[in-house]
Amino acid sequence: MRVLVLGGTTEASALAKLLAGDARFKATLSLAGRTLDPKPQPLAMRVGGFGGVEGLVRWLHDEKAAAVIDATHPYAAQMSTNAVAACAQAAVPLGSIVRPPWRQHEDDRWRIVPSAAAAAATLGRAPLRVFLSLGRQDLHAFIGAPQHRYIARTIEAPDQVALPPNIRILQARGPFDRDSEAKLLSDEEIDVIVSKNSGGAATYAKIEAARELEIPVVMIARPDKPAGHVLASAGEAIAWLHGRAPGSPRGV
Ligand code: NAP
Repeated sequence: MRVLVLGGTTEASALAKLLAGDARFKATLSLAGRTLDPKPQPLAMRVGGFGGVEGLVRWLHDEKAAAVIDATHPYAAQMSTNAVAACAQAAVPLGSIVRPPWRQHEDDRWRIVPSAAAAAATLGRAPLRVFLSLGRQDLHAFIGAPQHRYIARTIEAPDQVALPPNIRILQARGPFDRDSEAKLLSDEEIDVIVSKNSGGAATYAKIEAARELEIPVVMIARPDKPAGHVLASAGEAIAWLHGRAPGSPRGV
């Protein structure tokens, strides 16, 4: 059974491992190509956009895909919108791994904003030391708030020409632990964190460290992200696929 996994996340890597060990599936893991040096995967990979809904429909048809798992990041809303539309057009079942958001704890000091631009505006006029933990694509949103000193943690160096003037890039890939996050926030005398509500365990330690150190977090709200059949984990995804594999009661 041919399966397409839309990836770029921990869940997609976990599912790739499960699929690689299962002879019933011939799966391809698709990455957008944002990371120049992605982690090696045990599955066939394809890299780069499909060319919108039309391109994805064509790919599903050409590759005779029998199911798609959308395991993209909670903020990758465009890919999910395209996946829902393309799978409907191509009549290919779509399962979507939906990672629950982090919930605000009573000791958390979050301010929830709709976008990176709104996060920059909410920092205020007085200069602050700001830890940006939102990936490299949205760093330009802080150009309009040059009074702050920024430390941005990204997996790869940002490729934008325009960045805020006082910015230092820390290149690192999670998971991160609470003690080292607390040390980083203290050593750098961080006043405020700007974060996405990614959910999951890999990057939660900074939220716990912020709670412990009473550092406020400007939290960029999740975008609306359409889904197919909602799945909670890579394990649920493989069980759902098994139900569709040839020979199973619901399979073809
Ligand atoms: P996006 O805004 O939803 O997607 C923009 C376009 O990138 C899509 O229309 C598609 O191009 C292409 N694309 C996205 N994911 C793809 C995939 N897995 N395979 C092939 N093409 C893909 O996505 P994004 O927020 O830029 O995220 C890009 C990738 O990084 C995703 O794989 C996502 O899981 C991962 N990621 C994102 C974040 C984040 O904060 N946004 C964080 C961690 C990881 P076409 O229309 O040409 O098909």
